[in-house]
Amino acid sequence: MKFLALLAIILSCTIHALGAFDRPSENGRLNALGNRFEETEPLRTLLTPNDDFPPIKTPHGSDWLAQHSEAGQSFDEFSDSKANRPDSTRRIIYLLPIGNFEEESSPPLPEVCAYATAFFQMETKLLPAYYPHELEFTPRKSPHGGQRQVLTKSIMTFLKTQLPPDAYCILGVTMTDLYPAPSWHFVFGEASISERVGIFSFARYDPLFWGDTRSEDYRSLILQRTGKVLVHETAHMFGLWHCIYFDCVMNGSNGMNETDASPQHLCPICLRKLHSAIGFDAVKRYEELARFYHGQKWYDDYDWVQRQLARVPQGTP
Ligand SMILES: [Zn+2]
Ligand SMILES: [Zn+2]
Repeated sequence: MKFLALLAIILSCTIHALGAFDRPSENGRLNALGNRFEETEPLRTLLTPNDDFPPIKTPHGSDWLAQHSEAGQSFDEFSDSKANRPDSTRRIIYLLPIGNFEEESSPPLPEVCAYATAFFQMETKLLPAYYPHELEFTPRKSPHGGQRQVLTKSIMTFLKTQLPPDAYCILGVTMTDLYPAPSWHFVFGEASISERVGIFSFARYDPLFWGDTRSEDYRSLILQRTGKVLVHETAHMFGLWHCIYFDCVMNGSNGMNETDASPQHLCPICLRKLHSAIGFDAVKRYEELARFYHGQKWYDDYDWVQRQLARVPQGTP
């Protein structure tokens, strides 16, 4: 339990540890992928790196890997980690909205659920919203912006009491800004693998938050940002650590710019891990993601997924 608790802290995206980043070589990336020939087709083909999976870039300045020392997690290390797995009882991802979601500045939650369903190939359900009273969840006025913030651990304690019996995990979502400890300015979210709870704020996804103007399609940008952070944090709950091998939605991120620059998809190593945890049909998953991306007019992501599907030989089961 102590190890699991520590793991949860490491994966919470809220720790600081300085160190130089040793960018993996091509061999290092292939070793981390493990023996993909253990997998049957068509997954084996979909796990083969190609130009659609650029190696991770050298981090600079305030980039996550320039500020945080991470050793990475190979597929074999993931397999040995004995992380949580869904089973016939705990099989549903629940989203619990906390507080108000004003339409103009919030992601559409049914679309967020649809994205999680396609991404994880697991049923994702939206729970009725919970409206906390003014003093609940250790609120404070941000010392750096003046906006209202609530304490992540305080909400996570509450979420543990809300886990339905068939929940794989429960994700609290809120439009209130978050802080993980008094010394921190803010945090986008925090999750605990062992306790199967996470809390994520979408307060900072509206360009207005940063003093920028809203573009015509800013609501699509809000949903894109929400989708990236939600799948990243939820994948932590399946035992995936940050990716240090390819450009990947599991790369650590120090802020909105880095999140915006990261791809929407999993690299082959992280896809192999998630497939091993959930056991989905990788082709069906890409087909459903393609439908979702097309519906959202995210044509670059749609084209990317179509290129993956085109790699699968016709007639492959
Ligand atoms: Zn993370
Ligand atoms: Zn990855």
